[in-house]
Amino acid sequence: MNNLATYAANPEHSIGRLYPEPPSSTRNAFQRDRDRIIHSTAFRRLEYKTQVFVNHEGDLFRTRLTHSIEVAQLARGIARTLALHEDLTEAIALAHDLGHTPFGHAGQDALNECMRDFGGFEHNLQSLRVVEKLELRYAEFDGLNLSFEVREGILKHCSIKNARQLGDVGQRFLDKTSPSLEAQLTNYADEIAYNNHDIDDGLRSGLITVDQLEKVELFAQNLSQVKALYPKLEYKRMVNETVRRMINTLVVDLCTYSANNIAQHQPKSIEDIRRLPQLIGFSPEIAAKNLKLKQFLRKNLYHHYKVNRMSAKATRIVKELFHTFFENTGLLPDEFQVYAEQEKARAVADYIAGMTDRFAIREHRKLFTVEEYL
Ligand code: MG
Repeated sequence: MNNLATYAANPEHSIGRLYPEPPSSTRNAFQRDRDRIIHSTAFRRLEYKTQVFVNHEGDLFRTRLTHSIEVAQLARGIARTLALHEDLTEAIALAHDLGHTPFGHAGQDALNECMRDFGGFEHNLQSLRVVEKLELRYAEFDGLNLSFEVREGILKHCSIKNARQLGDVGQRFLDKTSPSLEAQLTNYADEIAYNNHDIDDGLRSGLITVDQLEKVELFAQNLSQVKALYPKLEYKRMVNETVRRMINTLVVDLCTYSANNIAQHQPKSIEDIRRLPQLIGFSPEIAAKNLKLKQFLRKNLYHHYKVNRMSAKATRIVKELFHTFFENTGLLPDEFQVYAEQEKARAVADYIAGMTDRFAIREHRKLFTVEEYL
């Protein structure tokens, strides 16, 4: 890759894979990791998993798959601007949501509650578990045997208790060191992607309105620019123009502020990056505006009563599935029954976490409705 900064992650100097493998003759280690992620079962399931809107609610809403593609696109653009390794950011972005349960945060919260006495459930840890253990595709190892740098990027946060059990990727939470800049920026790309596409989906669904959003500075500023430039623009284009300008505002700020931060600290190597505080970030001004946007979405979209209704159903489905399987593991598919003999609760949680929205709904119907064929 051309023009790579000396402190960028470099696949030729990767910390490596858990199971050593000969290098690919056509791809660098991070490209290979990305390809393994794209070919995984968990990746294909992202198409039928959603965060705010359940998959069957409409064809135009984001799914976890389109979200992950948007994150990858933003992350690559930011990486290129900062002379960091694009392939690494792409791999992290495409894998970052692999561990999500069906029904977004309602599903994760319900499963976490069910798992309270068994170590809990956290989607970020689950993404790591998917790539380290649950994907069974290769003859010589469980999981995808990804490079350290990709696994490090997937694990965005983690408690000290969990960090102690995670080995190499847990260590930085104990040492309080930083991950690669590629991992740091992919985190921001995630946030930029979902805040903006949730506005877009929120408006399309009618759950939030432009009038409400005019109280959010980041939206209002960009909207007034659009209105000044194109006073007669129809509604859909006006929304789209505003959202794309918001994304641009955030990306440009992130790149500029982070580049300054990097220049001030003068890292020479990725080892320096790991020792330094996190250098990727928004300017304080944009960070404050971005926070207001998140608070707006939490209050007005994520807790809209119509979303609450779906969340309540999702919670009920996940909890009923969990308790039913936990009480009678004979109802699980064969391979999960074998696994449940060793770790009952975790096997049930892994089975449920792997479900898509519609699979979970169907599975629930099969278990609770007498008329439904098995
Ligand atoms: Mg995400």
